[in-house]
Amino acid sequence: MKRVIGLLVLLLVCIAPAGEVSAASASGSETVWVCGGPNSKRYHKSKNCKGLKRCSKSPKSMSREDANKNGYTACKICYRH
Ligand SMILES: [Zn+2]
Repeated sequence: MKRVIGLLVLLLVCIAPAGEVSAASASGSETVWVCGGPNSKRYHKSKNCKGLKRCSKSPKSMSREDANKNGYTACKICYRH
């Protein structure tokens, strides 16, 4: 039985995309969008957010964790409750 579980874990590890595993942590790997401009401090849930329309640069995607690490805060339009 133990061997079966081990095999199953191995299978799951193989299925998971390699690039995502290292970036993802306990908080998950949600992808967010930020404006590439120097004054942008918000990350967005959607690339098509109104807040990104004003961005003169093209939006780039990153994990939400990375956005937080880089000092970005959640867009109030995308993340209103
Ligand atoms: Zn937004």
